[in-house]
Amino acid sequence: MSGIGKAEQSVRQKVRICKLKKDGELEEVERREQNPIVFCSKCKAKADDPSSLCNPRALKAVKR
Ligand SMILES: [Zn+2]
Repeated sequence: MSGIGKAEQSVRQKVRICKLKKDGELEEVERREQNPIVFCSKCKAKADDPSSLCNPRALKAVKR
């Protein structure tokens, strides 16, 4: 049941976009910012997964 693919995936998910941005991995950052639903209120990075950010906030603000 265990597979190499799964391990690879979890490693990938652990890397935060915030860190990628810091490290200058802009290509990877761009790839993950294509369909953002959250952003980091600390680093201003965007992501499609809240767990990719150190301080995630929903992108779609509730309008009043
Ligand atoms: Zn951050």
